Amino acid sequence: MKTELVIDGAQGEGGGQILRTALSLAVLQGRSVRIERIRAGRSKPGLQRQHLTCVNAAQAISNAVVEGAHIGSTCVQFTPREPVYGEHHFQIGTAGSTMLVLQTILPPLLAAKTPCRIGIDGGTHNMLAPTACFIERCFLPVLRKMGAKIALSVERIGLFPAGGGRVVLDIEPAALAPLLLLERGAAKGIGALALVAGVPGSVATRELAAVAKHFNVPIDQLTQQSLEGTGPGNVLSVWAGFENACGLSVAHGARGVASEQVARRACNDLARYLLSEAPVCEYLADQLLLPIVLAGKGSFITNCVTEHLCTNIAVIDQFGAGRFTVSELSKHAWRVDCGG
Ligand code: ATP
Repeated sequence: MKTELVIDGAQGEGGGQILRTALSLAVLQGRSVRIERIRAGRSKPGLQRQHLTCVNAAQAISNAVVEGAHIGSTCVQFTPREPVYGEHHFQIGTAGSTMLVLQTILPPLLAAKTPCRIGIDGGTHNMLAPTACFIERCFLPVLRKMGAKIALSVERIGLFPAGGGRVVLDIEPAALAPLLLLERGAAKGIGALALVAGVPGSVATRELAAVAKHFNVPIDQLTQQSLEGTGPGNVLSVWAGFENACGLSVAHGARGVASEQVARRACNDLARYLLSEAPVCEYLADQLLLPIVLAGKGSFITNCVTEHLCTNIAVIDQFGAGRFTVSELSKHAWRVDCGG
């Protein structure tokens, strides 16, 4: 066992991602870590349900000895012992993001020598987190190109605030190859999915009409779905598919906000991605770092350098897991390289 590492949870962007990356790398490296000042600058500092489930999930797959795993805790001591891969099920207990829990334990599971199946109950289309739609359309296709054998099944969609979603992830052992993602490739078109739960279907219809108008695409290539027995909630996803990449924007409906305004928010966000020729959007950029660490090498071009990206690079460096460099190519294109 290597010496214990101390990670400052308040460095850089200062959010839950520092905790999640530290847990992923601690399990991968079999290394003891203490994460201090977790989310110290946030309005509700420390572990919230999603973060606590990340700690519990990382503990379950590594038989870790853990101190400080409780709501509100700002310091977690985590010592992994041996892998317990295979089948696990985790419940967040709120509408917290299932996708962020998945991303915490995914890197070690991708390196596992046996098949794994992970079920998680919670939210599937959260604000300020990758939605299941984003993971399916943007994140997993890149991982599959790197060689990952991975399937995500959204058994039940769970929207904030009710939650109640369920996802299952199956991973087969496979080595990851270095990532080289420098070009989008040919355009495959615009798509959209408007989800409504406990909200009239006309909300979704109006959102999609506004998307169709904004991008001048036929309405019949856009989809709406009404969810029974849950809600209230409304999430609009709009994406632009390319041969090698996908940009996806999300907007959440809210009481008193017109459907057209929700659609405008998602369309304007996607238009920002389309302004650049970079394949990797600002969100995917920070999420690709750990898969690249696993592969040992990788390069991609992103349209934006965020605080999340820089902070994640710093935490990975503190584990000695990989050295990333970021170089500006133009106003809307930055190249991120690791290894080699
Ligand atoms: P905190 O509440 O402390 O901010 P958190 O655990 O909710 O913490 P962050 O540390 O902010 O989360 O990390 C959020 C993650 O979600 C990042 O990887 C970011 O790229 C991703 N993300 C945020 N918004 C989107 C989006 N619209 N689409 C895809 N991914 C997103």
